[in-house]
Amino acid sequence: MSQQINITLPDGSVRVYDKGTTGLQIAASISEGLARNVLAAKVNGQVWDASREIHEDSNLQLLTWNDLEGKSTFWHSSAHLMAEALESLFPGIKFGIGPPIETGFYYDVDFGDHKLEGEELEMIENKIMELAKLKSEFIRKEVSKKDAVAYFQEKGDEYKLDLLEGLEDGSITFYEQGNFTDLCRGPHIPNTGFIKAVKLTNIAGAYWRGDEKRKMLTRIYGVTFPKAQELKDYLTLLEEAKKRDHRKLGRELELFMFSEKVGMGLPLWLPKGTLLRERLVSFMKRAQDKSGYQQVTTPHIGSKVLYETSGHYEKYGKDSFQPITTPHEGETFLLKPMNCPHHCEIYKHKPRSYKDLPIRYAEFGTVYRYEQSGELHGLTRVRGFTQDDAHIFCRPDQVKEEFTKVIDLVLYVFKALGFDDYTAQISLRDPENKQKYIGTDEAWEKAESSIIEACAEKGMETVTELGEAAFYGPKLDFMVKDALGRKWQLGTIQVDYQLPERFQLEYIGSDNQKHRPVMIHRAPFGSLERFVAVLIEHCGGEFPLWLAPEQINILPISEKFIEYAEEVKGILEDAGITGQLDNRDEKIGRKIRDAEVKKVPFMLIVGEKEQEEGKVAVRKHGQGDLGSFLIEEFITYFQGIISESLKKE
Ligand SMILES: [Zn+2]
Ligand SMILES: [Zn+2]
Repeated sequence: MSQQINITLPDGSVRVYDKGTTGLQIAASISEGLARNVLAAKVNGQVWDASREIHEDSNLQLLTWNDLEGKSTFWHSSAHLMAEALESLFPGIKFGIGPPIETGFYYDVDFGDHKLEGEELEMIENKIMELAKLKSEFIRKEVSKKDAVAYFQEKGDEYKLDLLEGLEDGSITFYEQGNFTDLCRGPHIPNTGFIKAVKLTNIAGAYWRGDEKRKMLTRIYGVTFPKAQELKDYLTLLEEAKKRDHRKLGRELELFMFSEKVGMGLPLWLPKGTLLRERLVSFMKRAQDKSGYQQVTTPHIGSKVLYETSGHYEKYGKDSFQPITTPHEGETFLLKPMNCPHHCEIYKHKPRSYKDLPIRYAEFGTVYRYEQSGELHGLTRVRGFTQDDAHIFCRPDQVKEEFTKVIDLVLYVFKALGFDDYTAQISLRDPENKQKYIGTDEAWEKAESSIIEACAEKGMETVTELGEAAFYGPKLDFMVKDALGRKWQLGTIQVDYQLPERFQLEYIGSDNQKHRPVMIHRAPFGSLERFVAVLIEHCGGEFPLWLAPEQINILPISEKFIEYAEEVKGILEDAGITGQLDNRDEKIGRKIRDAEVKKVPFMLIVGEKEQEEGKVAVRKHGQGDLGSFLIEEFITYFQGIISESLKKE
């Protein structure tokens, strides 16, 4: 038998090594720097310890901090290290599970009689760093179920014994680092020395196995980093995210509120928030009008039969708002969970010819879905929200052109709102499992290639996911990265073969035969509520000028100039510029400070000189004095900024 194995690296190159070589050794043979940074090895698609021997020809990817799987191995290993620290500080405690999460990790711990306090976290952090410096290796051991049970029986850890019950003999591994041994499948980083910084972020209660009849354990959350600076950056980011929290800014800028009496998850838009919403809506309407959409309006409820036809009753019926009954027995309505069924009925109101297509119906339609109270979160998860919805009914040969147009619209929206960093995901059928999907093979192939080509022609950065399409059609999802680098899913463009079928939609083709149109659902914002939330957090409440509900504040130096200030306000209002006149009896410095706090883009200060010359002294938010302008000059300057940010490329 050969004593050598072929290792294929991600770039396709093949290298020959001795059988039993580890990922770490391979890394070292490539470069010392890589060896220092390798956290784990992906061997034939499975993540392994970098220190584990490889005995067969394999595809190998060396994982570092830059890989998601590298990070999660790092964080999972950190949970073991935290457990070691906890055990040395609180001997006799017992451990549940300690997985990595999106950012960081947690471990569920039974502290017995001790109640862990927030003040103790720093001591635990210090212990973690002390142990990390020992650079203890994570050692993998295969153990028999009998030995594993004996070990935890002796230790008296009923949680690990409970976990062991579900494991099969022959598949059980222990990992040991320093003085701590854990039941774990792995993988882990080579040694604890990679962990250079830790922050324990939270303590919460968690029932064992999520079962409220079982014991409540203490869940400790933490996050670790391979460099101290990265922890500092992370904490700064958290601070910044807290400052930009849309719930906080929404309150401070008086945009929206919630009232328990009105109902949880049902936002109330205040005057300024409503103005902002209206600006978004009219911006979108203008863009849609130019792209050949027609506005329609439909009610907030529909009969149950409508949603049975569409299939939404099956999907939302039992877990959502319950049917509305009327004095008329047997008559039931539902709060609208989707606008599509209504639009299908509008399509049907008269016979359609191939020449009529595409037809594009747009509606800012408010829909209602019952989210669990624990899921509600500011404007991002609500129970009633308004979609910037539209449905395009087109012929199969028009799908590509329609997709291209929708992409143009989405990208225009992103640009006007300052989202420069975005990616898109194309979700296609699972080619191995075609029977799962409705619609003909031919239609799918055509639609899928249309989406791929449309994206390619726009030069968009996309990832393609096989098997992620809905059963009724492929789709394209947009993700934006906000100013803090967080990713948000926004608009979706979804092809649908199902609703035209369910609603028996038709058009007469050039062959004089009846055909089914293709339906495309699209919503560039997703919902106005969620979009406003993302926008607030992205811009930290400093909206693009065209969108800001309060674009200017007029600040008279003293009450002598209120009359002139009112005159200025009137002229600006005629030019479509909105804002308030601060006529309080306050010092000008105070008025400026207050306008700065409200993030009002422009402050127009008026005093004797301005009044005499028909001018305003302009201050820009965050920048200071811009000098004095004739009122007309200011209007031109102001409108120039807006038309620049709204122009199409
Ligand atoms: Zn582990
Ligand atoms: Zn729809």
